Amino acid sequence: MSEHPTRIVTAATIRTMSESAPRVQAMALLGDRIVATGPLAELRERFPQAEPVDYGPATVVPGFNDAHQHLIDLSATLDQLDAGEERFTDARALLDGLAERCADTPPGRWVRAYRYDDTRGGGPGITRADLDRVSTRHPILVTQVSDHWGVLNSPALHLAGHPAEGDGIVAELELFRLAWSDEPVVELPSTAERVRGVEVLSRKYHAAGITSIGDALVSPEQLGLYAQVRRQGRLSLRVTALIDATYTDGFLDNGIGTGFGDEWLRVGGFKAFVDGAVAGRGCLLEEPFEGTEDHGIQVTPPEELAALFARVHRAGSVLAVHANGDRAIRQLLDVIETNRDGAPGPAQPHRIEHCSVLTEQALERISRAGLAAVPFGCFVAAHGPKLLDWYGAERLQRMFAHRWLLDEGIPVGGASDYSVSPYEPLLALQSMVTRESADGTVLGPAQRISAAEALWVYTVGSAMVAGEQRYKGRLAPGYLADYVVLGADPLTADPRELSTIPVRHTVIGGETVWSAPHE
Ligand SMILES: [Zn+2]
Repeated sequence: MSEHPTRIVTAATIRTMSESAPRVQAMALLGDRIVATGPLAELRERFPQAEPVDYGPATVVPGFNDAHQHLIDLSATLDQLDAGEERFTDARALLDGLAERCADTPPGRWVRAYRYDDTRGGGPGITRADLDRVSTRHPILVTQVSDHWGVLNSPALHLAGHPAEGDGIVAELELFRLAWSDEPVVELPSTAERVRGVEVLSRKYHAAGITSIGDALVSPEQLGLYAQVRRQGRLSLRVTALIDATYTDGFLDNGIGTGFGDEWLRVGGFKAFVDGAVAGRGCLLEEPFEGTEDHGIQVTPPEELAALFARVHRAGSVLAVHANGDRAIRQLLDVIETNRDGAPGPAQPHRIEHCSVLTEQALERISRAGLAAVPFGCFVAAHGPKLLDWYGAERLQRMFAHRWLLDEGIPVGGASDYSVSPYEPLLALQSMVTRESADGTVLGPAQRISAAEALWVYTVGSAMVAGEQRYKGRLAPGYLADYVVLGADPLTADPRELSTIPVRHTVIGGETVWSAPHE
């Protein structure tokens, strides 16, 4: 049945996240599954031939699951400038970096940067004119950290079919078309390079304890790339793909929807957008951004969303809708409440991606409609005080509202939206527990949760929002043997030091995919 003998895993602490036995002494693995948990003596008796695996003074928890990030888009960024690196202290430094890159790139080839924070160094942000001064012999695209807008130089605008004028900013669906659709205007690296990109990123994730991800915007071509990595035996991470809703008909007309695939690569549902991004200052708000009249950006009008929702719901698939602002969430709830048409819908909840700015009314409606929420795990730690300038202290008390969502019994998944915020789940745990940014600023303390709850969000919660809670997110008989070995117990560690807990090993389906180098 399996090439492996039964193994019995022990460690100082094993936290299973299972309600019936939250802490056990040992667990027995057969192949890629956990077959039993309990006292060591009992498991030894049941499995006398089993091979012992002892992690010593460590803590074992279920593998972290980042329910919403963008690995497949990022697989094409290996050759891009990472504007989030420390050395790019301000716009000038980034422009110099781009100029260097252009000098090394044949004319006519694209030069790109991602994770650009326009507030770094105090602004102002870069414009088309700045990029034209860098080069007019290369098309250039700099993507802002939210991935919801970017700046192009004149040659890039020309290739995209836009007049080369104004500030060169392209946003929302138009940026998605240029950069991430199946007919992108930008030039993509070769397939081999992108396969390598998937591997490089997977390894980074494993080093942070991640065993599963939700990829939150996947085109048919990108799903094919995942399938290819899988066929080559090179997929080391479990992927639940949210298909770009632009392609809904092509999938549903052929009977392919939520649940298609297997435990390695699975279709989770279809992904649509109501509004812009929190860090892009584009979410659709009831009250404008602080000190402005700006209520944010509407990406999809409600009528269009209603038709899409009805189609996906009738087909028994999941619609995962990006809705950040409280006005966007209200619009989405109106659509969902009025377009079910009596159809039973999928066996798992539809999802609100981000669900960033909540109201008590919305919370109650989300609960009544049986929806799941996938809020940012580490936005407070990652984006810090600038959120205060844009949203204000009062509104932040109902943003990334983990406390409210958990209290209401709504399934809550953990999400980085990487590269929008850092992917490390332990940093997210720290952020959800402390609500403190790197400089010590506390934002929205009303939404603090306990370390046990934060761990639940990134394990059981993420499995629930993907409809995978019967075999993922816990260490219990019948569950996948996906776990992380940590250097300290996150439930007893100082909350301010959660992000510094070392990840010793990451194990997926009983196979060790990553081990820390020996110190
Ligand atoms: Zn996203």
